[in-house]
Order: sequence, then structure tokens, then C-alpha cells
Amino acid sequence: MTDKFRALRVSKSDQGPKAEFVDLAEADLMEGDVTVAVDYSTVNYKDGLALTGKAPIVRNWPLIPGIDFSGKVEKSDHKDFKPGDRVVLNGFGVGEGHNGGYAQKARVKGDWLVKLPDAISNEQAMAIGTAGYTAMLCVLALEKNGVTPDKGDVLVTGAAGGVGSVAIALLSKLGHRVIASTGRASEADYLKSLGAAEIIDRNELSAAGKPLGKERWAGAVDAVGSHTLANVLAMTKYGGAVAACGLAQGLDLPASVAPFILRGITLCGIDSVMAPKEIRIEAYKRLAADLDMKKLAAMSFRAKLDDVPRLAGEIVAGKVRGRAVIDVNA
Ligand code: NDP
Repeated sequence: MTDKFRALRVSKSDQGPKAEFVDLAEADLMEGDVTVAVDYSTVNYKDGLALTGKAPIVRNWPLIPGIDFSGKVEKSDHKDFKPGDRVVLNGFGVGEGHNGGYAQKARVKGDWLVKLPDAISNEQAMAIGTAGYTAMLCVLALEKNGVTPDKGDVLVTGAAGGVGSVAIALLSKLGHRVIASTGRASEADYLKSLGAAEIIDRNELSAAGKPLGKERWAGAVDAVGSHTLANVLAMTKYGGAVAACGLAQGLDLPASVAPFILRGITLCGIDSVMAPKEIRIEAYKRLAADLDMKKLAAMSFRAKLDDVPRLAGEIVAGKVRGRAVIDVNA
């Protein structure tokens, strides 16, 4: 078998990142103890930023972007992996500082890889992607903080987005009554098909609010930040918990300490990029058990490596619905 493989690579130019399809050899890959034959990748917002240059994501030029991939181990000097193992990679700076998933081969540290459970195919792993795995991390955080279905409703903000959609599917399967906050009323039927029991307009939460409001939910997954997160905290029931993972509205948090000191609310910070391996393994085990794969299929569509530059522009412009599963060998 030839060691040549196809990749989408960005190089630095005066006009911003220049993306081109190139044929590379294994010698072009970066250091690592596991070589993976990549099957699928996906297009995250961060990948869109890397390819369009709208934000300085790429730290090493030239670079193969793609922060997520799934595939089969081809060669391994790592004790936990052998050829043929099915693996997934999310984050760890891959597609930012280290060559990523938009290639038919990747060489990475085995410590960054997770073996996929039998119930999750390589294709499904990319329909889940960083967004779905982050949603699972949020659900685990709520569980660890005692948010059980009997405590009351749970809220998901940024509901029609990647994190929000998977969070709704997971929480409803686990028996929670889910309230979905969205700016897209047209997506109400889609959100209900994922398991949302009630839809609220995101404008209810996006303006500056009071330190404390009526207690409406026992827990929340917040992908939005800013005033939305402040209001979510202010309306969380006594003893509840909120998992904060995103900044779709803003990086700020214009809140007061009232929900913490008067209602004992817990704010759980969620980071997927550097999350330790044990937590990742737990997250994939739980995704295998608790994510309805039919719902996952409804959230994703297939595309090719050739489509990635176009999809990168579209995701940054907010025009992509659902997750693109990129077949890098198509
Ligand atoms: P998406 O772009 O798919 O979804 C974000 C959603 O947020 C949108 O669909 C929209 O939902 C809502 N939204 C967008 N703009 C605004 C706004 N101005 N005010 C209120 N709501 C808004 O992103 P993801 O779901 O993939 O990611 C969600 C967030 O989580 C992002 O900020 C992302 O950077 C972050 N993230 C963090 C990770 C971590 O490790 N902590 C990992 C992955 C993502 P709707 O249309 O329903 O209103």
C-alpha cells in the first residue's frame, strides 16, 4: 500500500489562510505514537474559523485543520492501541497546533485517543463530534450535582445548535422534562422530535435581568453565556445546577452571586478540549447507552472532503443546519 494520502491543508498568505488539497506522505505527518487511517471528520464552528481565518485558530503553518476525527489504528507504539482498533479524537489542540482530521491519515499521541464503544460506528462518532461529546459532559456534570428528573424541568439553551440538539436528545431519553430555548421558532417541530417538551423564545433570557427570578428549572445546559446564562442561574430552583459550555451570545457573565448564596446553585464549567481521558471514556460509554441513534441520524448529513471549504464558510455565516459527517475517502 502506498503511503501517499490526500489532505486539505491551510498555509499562511497575505490574504489570510490559503486552503488547498494536497497529496502528502507519512513523513509529512507530525510526531505521535499512533497512526490512524482516518474514516470521517466533521465541520465545527472552530474549523470554520480556522479555514476562513475569521479567528486565529491555527497556531502552526502549514496545517491540516479538523478538530475531530474517527478511524482505525494503522500503526501503534502506544500500549493501549493495536492495529484495527476503532478510535475517536476530539480536541487536544488537534486541527489547531497539530495536524487534524481533514486527511486520510493522522499521526497523534495515543493519550489523545479514545476507543469507540461497539454501539457507536465511526460515522456516528462524527455525527456526535465535539458538540455531542460536550453535551454529554454537560449531562454528566448535572448528574454529579444531583439533577435528577424528579427535581423538576431542565433547560437547554442554544437548543437548535450542535450541543443543544444532542443535550435535548440525551436528557429526554434519561427521563427529564426538557425546555428548549431557541431563536428559531421554525425549528420547534425538530426540537420536539428530539425530545423537547416545551419551547421558549430565547429573547425571554437574552436581556439584562434581575439577580433572582421565579424558580423555573432544576438544571440547565447553557451553550450561550452572557445575559442568558445570568438569567438561567437566576431562575434555577433551590439546590440546582447549571452546566456552562458555550458563548454563543457572549463571553461575559453579567450576573450576581445571589443564586449561589441564596439558593445554593452550582455553576459547572465544561471544557471538552483538554478534558482528561477518564472523563472522555465515561462520556463515550454513556453516549453509547443513552443517545438515540435515530435522533442522531436526523441531526446529521453526509459530505465529502471536497465540500469542507464551502461548509467552513457556511458554518461561520450560520447557514449550516445539523452536523456534516465528512467521509474523507469519498
Ligand atoms: P452552534 O453554532 O451549532 O449552536 C449555537 C446555538 O446558539 C445556535 O444554534 C443558536 O441556537 C444559539 N445562538 C446563536 N447566537 C446566539 C445569540 N446571539 N444569542 C443567543 N443564542 C444564540 O454551536 P455548538 O452547539 O456547536 O456550540 C455551542 C457553544 O458551545 C459555542 O459557543 C461553542 O463555541 C461552544 N463549545 C464549547 C465547547 C467546550 O469545550 N466548552 C465545545 C463545543 C462547543 P438557536 O438557533 O436554537 O437559538
